[in-house]
Amino acid sequence: MGNAFPYTTGVALQGARHEAGSIFSDERLQQMLDLTAACYWEQDAGCRFTYVHLCSALALRQTPEQFIGLCFWELEGMQPLPAPEWERFGECCRRGEPLRRLVTAYQEAGGGTRFFCIEGNAVRDAQGGLIGYRGIVRDVTGERRLEEQASTFDLSPVGIAHVSQQGRFLHVNAKFCELLGYEPDELVGRQARDITHPDDAHLVDAPAQQMRRGEIASFKLEKRYLRKDGTVLWVSLTSTLKRDPYDSPLYNITLVEDISGRREAEEQAHFLATHDALTQLTNRPLFNQLLAFAAASGRRHQRRFALIVLGLDRFKQVNEAYGSTVGDEVLKETGRRLSRFVRASDVVARLGGDEFAVLLEEAGSPDNVLGLARNLMQALAQPMQIRGKECQVTASLGISQFPQDGPDEQALLKKAALALFNVKEEGGNAAQCYHAGSQGQGARQLAMELGLRRAIEAREFSLHYQPKIRLATRQVCGVEALLRWQSPELGLVPPADFIQVAEDSGLIIPLGRWALEQACIQLRRWREAGLPSFTVAVNLSPRQFADPALIGTIEGLLHGSGLDPTLLQLEITESTVMHNALRAQQQLRAISQLGIGIAIDDFGTGHSSLAKLKTFPLDTLKIDKSFIRDIETDEEDRVLTETIIRMGKSLGLEVVAEGVETAGQLQLLAAQGCDVVQGYYFSKPLPAAALVDYLRRCGGYAA
Ligand code: C2E
Ligand code: CA
Ligand code: CA
Repeated sequence: MGNAFPYTTGVALQGARHEAGSIFSDERLQQMLDLTAACYWEQDAGCRFTYVHLCSALALRQTPEQFIGLCFWELEGMQPLPAPEWERFGECCRRGEPLRRLVTAYQEAGGGTRFFCIEGNAVRDAQGGLIGYRGIVRDVTGERRLEEQASTFDLSPVGIAHVSQQGRFLHVNAKFCELLGYEPDELVGRQARDITHPDDAHLVDAPAQQMRRGEIASFKLEKRYLRKDGTVLWVSLTSTLKRDPYDSPLYNITLVEDISGRREAEEQAHFLATHDALTQLTNRPLFNQLLAFAAASGRRHQRRFALIVLGLDRFKQVNEAYGSTVGDEVLKETGRRLSRFVRASDVVARLGGDEFAVLLEEAGSPDNVLGLARNLMQALAQPMQIRGKECQVTASLGISQFPQDGPDEQALLKKAALALFNVKEEGGNAAQCYHAGSQGQGARQLAMELGLRRAIEAREFSLHYQPKIRLATRQVCGVEALLRWQSPELGLVPPADFIQVAEDSGLIIPLGRWALEQACIQLRRWREAGLPSFTVAVNLSPRQFADPALIGTIEGLLHGSGLDPTLLQLEITESTVMHNALRAQQQLRAISQLGIGIAIDDFGTGHSSLAKLKTFPLDTLKIDKSFIRDIETDEEDRVLTETIIRMGKSLGLEVVAEGVETAGQLQLLAAQGCDVVQGYYFSKPLPAAALVDYLRRCGGYAA
């Protein structure tokens, strides 16, 4: 073909002039060139056009002649020199090498851009010398646009799939494949439903139909796909219907964005809100819901189930002895043992502290449940290896059953808690089903605890003050502050009925703090009112005394009220002090260093020797009223009080006799050398205002 025509400028110019005619000798070749969308050209060795065939294909010039003598880069709209493509073009021409797929941009007069693809070969003479270059130019703008589209489809950071009206993948982009872990040909042709999480398979049905009916233009939802490896992919999916120019639906364009990260964070947050951080078990709020649900579905399907509420025995001691890190490990191990023990359908929860709960579905007969509970206890009682230490904890279990023990979660929890309370009362390490009997002592205590809690909030407490009289002067030298609970339902409740419950439940801490504060405030008012100076004694329970925050609390109160600390006295029973003598020693010293007086209360009931008490920084000894009661008739008691008084005084302590009710008792005590007396003989504990009246009446001096 290269030799089909002589390559000279003249011929080329002639050809250019006779575009409709031909420089081509071959008629068929001529036809072919006329019909292709390409433009054929020839150039001399200097890259200047010598012939152009069908230049209109390029829309560059009107007639072929207008090209003659110009170079590509001199054509208006073409990239001018120096441009990399023309470097390449010139290089190929010079060396006589073939040029392939050189794409160049052409700026149209209207502002648009078109792309041309130039390809060429060298023209040589008979001796093989290079005399020119020839080739074709094609307009590739359309192809180029398609390529660009394809590359946005493929390079898109969003997963894109074209899905047929029948739900099959027609096209998927690289991102879509990457998200799902499939190769494109594994997806194309496949039903989208096949790779959707079964629970979400029908999510798109309704909106897709609405879209086909033209009711909506697109829809967006969140759903789960299953990756090739079986893992879940959460996506936000947007689907739009592509229609043909006649408005018939073609396919859906589905965009998917990976939202697994956000979903995981949401799931994590939900887990945290519904699970206990330490043991990873279900927490109390979720357990209550599950229990409520079990009761509701139990009613509908007449199914029975059991609830076990479980507390570790003496867990506080474990914490104190080994530290809370070990304590935490014990709780975790307990959770693990419980979870291992029950069936997957059962629920194990941590209700708080050392309290756990188990919901047993399909519980069977009460005997069955009790048997199971006993096995559970045994599993828990096995020694635990924790940080190289062997720990053994036992548990107490209270059981309630649906439906016989209650219709809902509240009733069941309450009954199980009562049964647990009973077990604990009886020493722990046992399991007990709720029975009406559990309602005895346990229920009263529980009711009392609830009542106390409420009473603290409702401020139903007050302090009464009982005067103490110094026998030598017959003067009121101090008062003892005693708690009173004025309950709207129960009337005036004596401390004997509630102090122990407050102590066991820990409520004594806020209550005792309140009493201390109240006493300080009252004492300061009396001082400000100009009453003669006397001390106020406040009782401290064992738990208050053991409270590490006690000293800080007292310091704060003294500071806040600006009170002279020597006017304050704390009464602590003998047994409290003796319970942990070493700790007591430190605590008493700290109190004493604040300048506060310390009295040993109920002395004589705790079987401790006075010699032992010598080592404590004490000020006052209060002889228990049980010794005073029969002092007039019981020779033995009389000898005992006399001994206590003598020894107390020899230790430098002030001795107080409590519960003095008669003149006879008073006389005897005075004769024995007792310093101070307190009792109904002088006065019952009185409200603050009544005490002031009392002091006025007796002029500060008791008859
Ligand atoms: P306690 O510390 O031994 O208080 C003396 C108790 O003897 C008071 O009983 C008082 O009313 C009573 N009493 C006083 N004189 C006589 C008498 O002549 N004859 C008889 N039979 N009893 C007399 P109360 O007020 O019922 O308090 C009982 C116990 O409750 C107190 O015994 C004390 O252990 C405790 N308590 C009272 N208030 C508080 C408090 O604020 N904190 C703490 N932790 N315990 C308190
Ligand atoms: Ca007392
Ligand atoms: Ca006492």
